[in-house]
Amino acid sequence: MAFFEKLDVNTSQQDSTNNESQVNEKVKVLIIGSGPAGYTAAIYAARANLSPVLYEGMVPGGQLTTTTDVENFPGYPKGVTGPDMMADLKAQAERFGTDIRFGYATAVDFSKRPHKVTFDGNKVVEAETVIIATGATAKYLGLPDETKYAGSGVSACATCDGFFYRGKTVAVVGGGDTACEEAIYLAGLAKKVYLIVRRDVLRASKVMQERLLKTSNIEVLWKHQTVGLTGENVVEGADLVINKGEENQEFTHIDIDGFFLAIGHKPNSDIFAKYVDTNEVGYINTIGNTSQTNVEGVFACGDVMDDRYRQAAM
Ligand code: NAP
Repeated sequence: MAFFEKLDVNTSQQDSTNNESQVNEKVKVLIIGSGPAGYTAAIYAARANLSPVLYEGMVPGGQLTTTTDVENFPGYPKGVTGPDMMADLKAQAERFGTDIRFGYATAVDFSKRPHKVTFDGNKVVEAETVIIATGATAKYLGLPDETKYAGSGVSACATCDGFFYRGKTVAVVGGGDTACEEAIYLAGLAKKVYLIVRRDVLRASKVMQERLLKTSNIEVLWKHQTVGLTGENVVEGADLVINKGEENQEFTHIDIDGFFLAIGHKPNSDIFAKYVDTNEVGYINTIGNTSQTNVEGVFACGDVMDDRYRQAAM
């Protein structure tokens, strides 16, 4: 089993090019990503004596670190903040010996085993088994105010944060199935929901559209786009433009307490797509009810392969 032994080499001598033939280290199990899926994989692999090495990626702790209170994760009866929950998961993975490191996967070679993964463009790790847990990234509009009010009224997850807006007024951006679903969900909690749609049609399925349009406390703002958010410390309103770029363009404002993005997610699968089967929008396909991909020794779990639930789950 010497092949599987962790073999640290002198990385100070490596060049900074993405040299796929260079191998700096050999490991048994390599986990890419540090959200709930990555840490769960680490806990199980470590307890099975597989000495997992986990690279945290660009956002250590994943999407939950951008959330404030998490009240719907089993086992936390008083709720927990997203960052605290992820710190707990990390501590649990470390307790069983997971080797957790900073680093971002920049390239892979899954053409034959052992598989090779390059981190930060210059470190190549060879692994018998690779577990992809790189998650998905919610799309944002790109407004500076989305960052300014992150965790203070801006959210990309109605299921996670909707509860905090009971009896309040919120806006959802988007015209697809997710936006409609989230608007309908929020309408069950909030006093009023605006759906901000950039065109004069919805992309959502007919059945979802019908459900949305017959929900009495949802108002669709057709051909509206968001220009900015307002508020002292938390979101209190949104500035919108109607008929952007047209002769009759005009500006308006709505008072809201919460601003939900629902313009889609992007699975973080780009670097794997050359080898691993994905669906048409990039979510990794796994075989049956397993986490095995089409490449032997490569597994995927969590949001990078789940376009349906998008929840941390046990
Ligand atoms: P989607 O279908 O890609 O829709 C994204 C929506 O966001 C579109 O209406 C798009 O507008 C809008 N949008 C994108 N960028 C925008 C921007 N910069 N400003 C304003 N609006 C913007 O994404 P999704 O709704 O997340 O759905 C993804 C997939 O999952 C779909 O295949 C969907 O059917 C499926 N899904 C199914 C269900 C269900 O069946 N229950 C639930 C959720 C999702 P345009 O229309 O103008 O492009």
